Amino acid sequence: MKDIIKILPENVSNQIAAGEVVQRPASLIKELVENSIDAFSNRIQIVLNQSGKKSIKVVDNGFGMSKNDLMICFQRHATSKINKSNDLFNISSKGFRGEALSSIAAVSHLEIVTRRKIDTLGYKLKVVAGKIQSEEKVVSNIGTYVLVKNLFFNVPARRNFLKSDSVELRHILNEFHRISIAHHDINFSLSHKNSEIFNLQKSSIHVRIKNIFGKKIEENLIPIKEKTSFVKLAGYIIKPEASKKTRGMQFLFVNNRFIKNNFLFHAINKAYEGLLDEKKYPGFFIFLEVDTASIDINIHPNKIEVRFEDEQSLYSVINSTVKHSLGIFQVTPTIDFESKPSFEIPYSKRFDQPIHPKIEVDHNFNPFKDGASKYHSKIWNKSETVYEEVGSSNLFNSKILNEIINEDGNKIFQIMNSYLITSTRNSLLVIDQERAHQRIIYEKLMKKITKSDNSSQQLIFPVNFILTKSQKLIYFDLKNTLTEIGFRLELEGKLNLKIIGIPGICSDIQATKIIEDLFDQFENDNKKKSFSNGDLIAKSISQSTSIKKGSALQKEEQKNIVNNLFNCKEHLLSPSQQKIFFSISKSELQNKFS
Ligand code: ADP
Ligand code: MG
Repeated sequence: MKDIIKILPENVSNQIAAGEVVQRPASLIKELVENSIDAFSNRIQIVLNQSGKKSIKVVDNGFGMSKNDLMICFQRHATSKINKSNDLFNISSKGFRGEALSSIAAVSHLEIVTRRKIDTLGYKLKVVAGKIQSEEKVVSNIGTYVLVKNLFFNVPARRNFLKSDSVELRHILNEFHRISIAHHDINFSLSHKNSEIFNLQKSSIHVRIKNIFGKKIEENLIPIKEKTSFVKLAGYIIKPEASKKTRGMQFLFVNNRFIKNNFLFHAINKAYEGLLDEKKYPGFFIFLEVDTASIDINIHPNKIEVRFEDEQSLYSVINSTVKHSLGIFQVTPTIDFESKPSFEIPYSKRFDQPIHPKIEVDHNFNPFKDGASKYHSKIWNKSETVYEEVGSSNLFNSKILNEIINEDGNKIFQIMNSYLITSTRNSLLVIDQERAHQRIIYEKLMKKITKSDNSSQQLIFPVNFILTKSQKLIYFDLKNTLTEIGFRLELEGKLNLKIIGIPGICSDIQATKIIEDLFDQFENDNKKKSFSNGDLIAKSISQSTSIKKGSALQKEEQKNIVNNLFNCKEHLLSPSQQKIFFSISKSELQNKFS
């Protein structure tokens, strides 16, 4: 056989590298803005079209490039930031790998204009798929702009891989949040389709956070600060009661670089232990400053992973600083950590008086009247809700229901205030009450959408919800589906969302929480686990409003959960795909006694 190995042409190897560095418009924003920061800019503007798919322009007022530098900056491994391998262990700039511009140039139409202070004119270069198309002297401001058009025009597979405009825009916003918080001493602006989303003036971290996430966040920030021989730590943590269902508010920076590090995240989570509701994550903006020689950033092209020389000590410092700050701000009630409560109630709820859902009893209810399959089950969700049909069950479900009912006297027991136990003729069922209730609410809401039943209950006192700018974008995205499901919302002024009506299934006291959880869920549904906006909204509401573990239920409520669950189309899995119940057959039981 003849020789078959060859060195790939540069344009192919650049395209391969692009796969790692440039995955979507958001990664371009990261790379281009980081270049602007490395050029000591104090004003950076980002201008987007079609969420960056059509064009991205990053304009800075940094130190610019000479003509010669400009001619090679988009070549692979071209960098001004390191010279020798030792420099890799002493990195203070954002970039150093010299592969961002070459990767971007390989898969787009690129235009760069740059001018240094000492030059009277700037230079403009046009590059298509890595090849120079034109160069010319131009009149320009000091600094650099990079315009990237038609991203992935020559890699259709990658272009097809891009998500909808709104999803890509959300990725961009996440990236923008990270960079602009890390560099609060720089003026940033971001506009999309000719409208300005952010215009952030140089400010303290605290003001930057407020300008991005809205005024509401201010009252929930607890400052943290610590200094040891190997690390300086500063920033804010978010009060436990304001924690979110997703990790969207977790910002850890090392030497002003946003990073992800599960080990250090664990140090923070651990400090919050016992203070958070189930399935909530702490929020934080923590800045670490360490000696550049004590970290290794060169682990992955995206530079989000970082290795530390002494991770264990860092863990301890972070953990104790967060704990200490939580203590000082007296959000940590004095608790006896040794004695465990008999069952799991989210800590913050433990001192609340339980509120039992109100029930309306159907006095004419007789499960045997017309045969169980015709039995119409009810939902009691809120005080003024009258019973409503959940809908016809499928054959299998009604068989179980039938059996439960026939097994009589429809005995259901609640244990640990969390699980319902009942039996059919041949098996024992153990049902997770929270997940079951989530499923019931979810199906009810999905049915509302599919049946175009947008009925709504009006709030006696409409409530105002102040949106952040990114929530406003989400709102436009979700508006129609929210109306379909029964919300009546009005945008007043720029950011005030007035909640006028909510779906009948929800209680009005939950209105703000439902909306807040919904935005949270949506902002962080990057993995796109939900198949539609309706699915996502229904899932989120079912989680916000379901009966929780640890709630004592009255007999009628227990019965309603079981009946309604088995009237659902799907009764095995909760909306987030978790098991709702398990069964133990008669023979399994018998075996236990053999
Ligand atoms: P890296 O940032 O890793 O060095 P890049 O491919 O991102 O690699 O950029 C290559 C080089 O181009 C940089 O090292 C820098 O010298 C120059 N450069 C890129 N963007 C700018 C900018 N906005 N201002 C000044 N110089 C820039
Ligand atoms: Mg770079």
